[in-house]
Amino acid sequence: MSRCLFCEGEPESLSGYAALHRVTSDCRPWPAGGGIAACHACGVVQKPCDPLFLDEIGKIYSGYEIYQLSSGLEQPVFSAGLGEARSMTLLKRAFETLQPAARGRMLDVGCGNGGLLKSFAARLPEWCLAGSEMSDTHKKAIESIPGVEALYVGDIDDIPGTFNLITMLHSLEHITEPVAFLAKLKARLAQGGRLLIEVPDLHQNPFDLLIADHVTHFSRTILHRTLSAAGYAVERLSNNWIAKELSAIATPGEAVSGIYDDGNDRAAAVEGIARLTRMIAEARDIAAQQTFGIFGTSIAGTWLAAQLLQTGAKVDFFVDEDQTRVGRQHMGLPVLGAANIAPGAKVYVPLAPAVARAVTGRLGVGQFVAPSVFN
Ligand SMILES: [Zn+2]
Repeated sequence: MSRCLFCEGEPESLSGYAALHRVTSDCRPWPAGGGIAACHACGVVQKPCDPLFLDEIGKIYSGYEIYQLSSGLEQPVFSAGLGEARSMTLLKRAFETLQPAARGRMLDVGCGNGGLLKSFAARLPEWCLAGSEMSDTHKKAIESIPGVEALYVGDIDDIPGTFNLITMLHSLEHITEPVAFLAKLKARLAQGGRLLIEVPDLHQNPFDLLIADHVTHFSRTILHRTLSAAGYAVERLSNNWIAKELSAIATPGEAVSGIYDDGNDRAAAVEGIARLTRMIAEARDIAAQQTFGIFGTSIAGTWLAAQLLQTGAKVDFFVDEDQTRVGRQHMGLPVLGAANIAPGAKVYVPLAPAVARAVTGRLGVGQFVAPSVFN
């Protein structure tokens, strides 16, 4: 058993998880057989960082695994994290607290293909921007964004100078030593500099458990504790700036004791696993009765399709509201627009409760089915 990522305690494996198929953060199906644990001492829900897990995340990040379900044909890879539109919504909310000056220098850690940098450049065109990533795959695209000085690949310590703002959107949950990493980042912040963090919320989104390369599953309680342990004072911590996500603004300084209590994280994870398991049975029953589609081609849709197909159930198509995905294939199945579904077909909507209700309400309860496990 590996040690807890946050304390000297011992993480306890949660049963039922190993039977679930998983998905990578860039929406590739990933086989079942993983582990998830909750620490006896501190309560943090986490992936056990044992050699098996470290080997898996190495494979995921190097991306060499051949895509299994489409006979080795490469699927379009959708960018992980927040898209450009959602990062703009986040910045709008964050700027109310940050009140940024007209000029400054910012670093986006885990910048992906530059969604946040683009939004930031549009809002504050006089800032000097930089990105940091594990690979230089998107170097050209990122360095062509107005205001971006460079994409830095490699160790954070090697990035020159300091920054007035450092952002980490959907990257802290990937890091195997989150407290040490955040503590190290302090040296990259200028006097008065701040950190903006966005991570998935365990309590709002059980599908996050299925992401094979997410190491820590945060609640407000744990995110606050992590920032405090790394030597930051938390200025804001919200669970509703972006649906299903936690957003935090922090600055180096004396930790203030947490006022956040999201309840028991272990219980939320156990319930999440149970709900996901029941969701598979429900979807399989519906699929057996008529033409069957799955709403969404991102994390949850990809997971459910892989889970059903690998265990002998059928899936006929995907549905997506994103017009850039309609007409393509995903996992070897057609992606239809919501208006193109045959009258007798049913579409299962495997999304977090609030989002699923909004979708079925908008597209038609009856043909579109929200998971009953959230009722
Ligand atoms: Zn612990």
